[in-house]
Amino acid sequence: MKAAVFHSVERPVEIEDVSVKTPGPGEVRVVIHAAGLCHSDLSVIDGSIPYPAPVVLGHEGAGVVDAVGPDVSGVREGDRVVLSTLAHCGRCPACEIGRPTECRNAPKMLQPFSIGGRAAYQFANTSTFVERTVVKEQSAIPIDARVPFDCACLIGCGVMTGVGAVLNRARVEAGASMAVFGVGGIGLNCIQGGVLAGAAKIIAVDVLAQKLELARAFGATHVVDASKEDPVAAIRDLTSGGADYSFECVGNLKVIQQALEALGPGGALTIVGVPKMGSSFAFVVHALYQNKAILGCRYGTARPRRDFAMLAELFLAGRLRIGELITHRYRLDEARTAFQDLERGSLARGVFAIANGE
Ligand SMILES: [Zn+2]
Ligand SMILES: [Zn+2]
Repeated sequence: MKAAVFHSVERPVEIEDVSVKTPGPGEVRVVIHAAGLCHSDLSVIDGSIPYPAPVVLGHEGAGVVDAVGPDVSGVREGDRVVLSTLAHCGRCPACEIGRPTECRNAPKMLQPFSIGGRAAYQFANTSTFVERTVVKEQSAIPIDARVPFDCACLIGCGVMTGVGAVLNRARVEAGASMAVFGVGGIGLNCIQGGVLAGAAKIIAVDVLAQKLELARAFGATHVVDASKEDPVAAIRDLTSGGADYSFECVGNLKVIQQALEALGPGGALTIVGVPKMGSSFAFVVHALYQNKAILGCRYGTARPRRDFAMLAELFLAGRLRIGELITHRYRLDEARTAFQDLERGSLARGVFAIANGE
C-alpha cells in the first residue's frame, strides 16, 4: 500500500510502498478514509521538529477498525474511529485525574511499518498518510457514524487543539473578550471555541485578508490586519485596555510577545502554536503584573473519549463548523503539492481522501 514517507530534510516527501504489521496486544489496525494536513507534519519536513526517520507522516485521521490485537477492549472491528495523538497510559496520577495530555509515561516509539524490509516509525502515535495504520487502542476513539470521515478526521487534531485551548485550557467564560493571533486551521477553531464559550468579543488577527474574512464567517466579531496596523494597539482599543484572553496560534516569538502585550489586567495568554524546537523568548516579568498568566497548551488539553464525542455532537447539532474548514482536497499521491500549499499558508485545512473517501 502507498504512504507519504519522510526520510530527511534534504529529501522531499516520497510516496512509497509500505506494509504494516498485524496488531499486537493492545493494538488495532485502522483503514484510513480521510486524513488532514497539519503544520506539525510540515515541521518534521523542514526540520524544526526533529524526528527519527524513516517515518510515515500524518496525524489527523479517521477510518474504520479492520483488525484488533489480543487484549483490546475499547474498540471492535467495524467501529468508525478518529485517531488521537495521545497514547496515554491510563494508569499514572495524571491519567487517573483525567489529564491524559500530562501523562507521566511517554509511549514507546512504535515502528509498525516496513519499507522494503526496513522498519519505519509511526508519527505522533498515529501515522495517517497511509491506507492502513496500526495504533494503540487508546488512540482509536469511536465516533458517531453520522459524522463524515473528512470532517471526523479534523476532530483528531485541528478542531480539538483549537476548541480545546479555549474551553479546556483557558476556560473562557461568557461575556469575556479574546484575541486570536493567526487564523489558519487552529485559529479558526479557537474562534469557534470562543463562540461556544459565549465570548462577547472575539478578535481575529492575521496578515492575510482572505483568512480574516473566513474568521468572520467562523464567528470573529472584529478583525485586525496586522500587516496594516499594530495589533496590540488595535486590541487594547477594542477592549478598553486589553483582552481577557489571547491565543497564539502561529508559533512565532514576535507574535507571542504581541499576544502577551495585548492582555488586560487578569488576562491569560495561551500558547497554542509550536515554535521551532529549542527556541526561547525573554519578557519583562513586570508584564505579568496585575495577575496576568502565560499558559502552555498541548493538544487542546484533550480527554479524547469525552471531547471527541462532544465535538461530534456539536457538529451534528450544527453548532461547530468543520466542513467549512476544508479548503482543498487531495489524493495521497498529491502529497508534495499539498505540503507546498500548506507552506504558502493558502490552506485552512487540506484533506486527503484515502481508502474510498466518502
Ligand atoms: Zn496537528
Ligand atoms: Zn498516564
